[in-house]
Amino acid sequence: MGVKEIRTAMKVDFSKPAWEQPGLHNRWHPDIPFAGKIANGEVVKIECMDWTGGQIGNNDSADDIKNVDLTRIHYLSGPFEIETAEPGDVLLVEIQDVQPFQDQPWGFTGIFHRQNGGGFLDDIYPEAAKAIWDFEGIFCSSRHIPHVRFAGLIHPGILGTAPSHEILAEWNRREGDLIAAHAGCGRDVAKPPEPKFAHAGGASAEIKAKVEKEGARTIPGRPENGGNCDIKNLSRGSKVYLPVHVPGAKFSVGDLHFSQGDGEISFCGAIEMAGIITLKFTVIKDGMAQMGMKSPIFLPGPVEPQFGPGRYLTFEGFSVDENGKQHYLDTTVAYRQTCLRVIEYLRRYGYDDYQIYLLLSCAPVQGHIAGIVDIPNACTTMGIPMDIFDFDIRPEVKPVKMDMGSCAFASERK
Ligand code: ZN
Repeated sequence: MGVKEIRTAMKVDFSKPAWEQPGLHNRWHPDIPFAGKIANGEVVKIECMDWTGGQIGNNDSADDIKNVDLTRIHYLSGPFEIETAEPGDVLLVEIQDVQPFQDQPWGFTGIFHRQNGGGFLDDIYPEAAKAIWDFEGIFCSSRHIPHVRFAGLIHPGILGTAPSHEILAEWNRREGDLIAAHAGCGRDVAKPPEPKFAHAGGASAEIKAKVEKEGARTIPGRPENGGNCDIKNLSRGSKVYLPVHVPGAKFSVGDLHFSQGDGEISFCGAIEMAGIITLKFTVIKDGMAQMGMKSPIFLPGPVEPQFGPGRYLTFEGFSVDENGKQHYLDTTVAYRQTCLRVIEYLRRYGYDDYQIYLLLSCAPVQGHIAGIVDIPNACTTMGIPMDIFDFDIRPEVKPVKMDMGSCAFASERK
């Protein structure tokens, strides 16, 4: 018996821009043509560009983050035809491995400028910033955030199936209603279909025009198909169960992360990378009815960094904002406060607030909802693994300020 080689179902071409590659697309639409065929039960490797399609460089300036073109994102590999999959089935996707390309052992974490993408704390930190991470096997470190090193919990930010025409119309209706209800509020609450730089893979001009007009943006995860869920624990050995809405499932994957913290708070917040994911596909017939499934479910794998019991220094935040305003059970307000408490604590060692904001986005921090019934305060927590630092951050140890250098900023601030 011969050894069965794992087939590569899709290769990316780094000599060409992402927008010229037929195996990539950056909108959700049922008419984007298949980029390849995968048998039920098959294991394949799929190559992915980073989510921006190579817009961000390994350098010490955040000009590229500040000027990133967000109409182009996310570049996903696919969609793949999974043989025998039909609407109503469940697609079981086993994540067997995720790796960076051998000749690109680095990734980036960005804070988008408030006027171009923004992030969870952009009212307080409006500037663009960046940290480059170097990979050494399972570990990473950054010249932009010294005295930190940790093992990555490597995973895809995006896994999803295509919506049906009916589901796509429903997305555009409900997100359109939200946008209309917030008109003039001074910030984007959702992104409607965007014709500019829509990439529909190898679609004909006629289908491309349809995708430009109707295709859903890939920014939010959605209940019907998964998509950009950014769940840090979907690492090697995890199983993901996805609803199928179109014949062949039209599965897509991308936005690979070397590591991410719960919340991915800076939006470009994981350690973003190009890489190769190894997946096994199994079609579960009539699975949606059998599982009562309305949204994806998953089983996390057995591989994750071990920090040991009692090694997460945990901060609390409540739904009272920085202006003293009391909010009613608002976990978003509470989690923002939780993040600010960590920034205040870690800046005592000499870090700039932007370095900490970047770190909380991408290091394996644990975010939890602690209490959501004790009116009027929701309580959320963030656990910081103390062992990612090469110095002692325990509360009883008096902090010593160190020279922490700087993360990358844009050449012109504001
Ligand atoms: Zn990402």
